[in-house]
Amino acid sequence: MAAFSAGAGPADAATKPAGKPSPGIYRYRIGSFELTALYDGIWYRPITDKFIRNAPFAEVESALADAFMPTDKLATPFTTLIVNTGNNVVLLDTGTGGQIAPSAGVLRDNLGVAGIDPKAVDLIVVSHFHPDHINGIKDKDDNLVFPNAEIMVPEAEWNFWMDDANLNAAAADLKLTFRNQRRIFSNIARKVTRFEPGAEVAPGIVTLAAPGHTPGHTVFAIHSGNQSLLVLGDTAQHPAVFARHPDWQAAFDIDGDAAVATRKKLFDRAAADRMLVTGYHFPFPACGHLVKTAGGYEHVPVEWQPHL
Ligand SMILES: [Zn+2]
Repeated sequence: MAAFSAGAGPADAATKPAGKPSPGIYRYRIGSFELTALYDGIWYRPITDKFIRNAPFAEVESALADAFMPTDKLATPFTTLIVNTGNNVVLLDTGTGGQIAPSAGVLRDNLGVAGIDPKAVDLIVVSHFHPDHINGIKDKDDNLVFPNAEIMVPEAEWNFWMDDANLNAAAADLKLTFRNQRRIFSNIARKVTRFEPGAEVAPGIVTLAAPGHTPGHTVFAIHSGNQSLLVLGDTAQHPAVFARHPDWQAAFDIDGDAAVATRKKLFDRAAADRMLVTGYHFPFPACGHLVKTAGGYEHVPVEWQPHL
């Protein structure tokens, strides 16, 4: 220690601890598009032996332990993406709106630090209707957070969740999800445009059907110049669990078989084509590559880019 302290002057001693976390912003380029990944925080979702439908809980616990994660909770970080195409400022999924867990809801703070005015967002595109993807459309008092944004949603997602027959047939906990969607969308339905998979929602942003997690779950392929990015949404939640164990069907997947088939199809393509990918519940900045392994896939995070 003596060697280190010998050169330290009074200036070092005067620096007080900041006492608060650093902003969660990561900026990168795809061709001429500027992307900003914005961290909204994390939820440690409590889990039980019902969490994975088709694996013994001891295996789930050991997968979590292998990843240095708690074994009774699923680490569920949230990262939204702003795509500035030069003509449009597009927000892909909207975060929790501070309405899911006390440890999430910092998206608007990070937007501010990133220098992005919520009024400048002119398009929101939603991957699916789970609350952690749509609640950020409104604040707790029902006001629109992005007042100038058109909102585009998958047609199949709207048809499934906004159908009162499906609401009435749902189990009690899923009914809460249906009611939350009505809280978000009912009085703004005029601002909402529905799209079919395959639609190009903005120049360079193409939608692809990715059903299973929910019936209309949708992913996005972003292309500019000779670069591309696959935005995987909830094709897999935390990669330490669901990339390494792609066959596992989580309790929150509405159609577990379809969710697994979609995951393998998209992950195989991303691995074979060495595509850059981002996942909504991947560890921040949520961006990297997927490598095929003997039993599944491994997520390799990007190196932090000091230049755009
Ligand atoms: Zn989600």
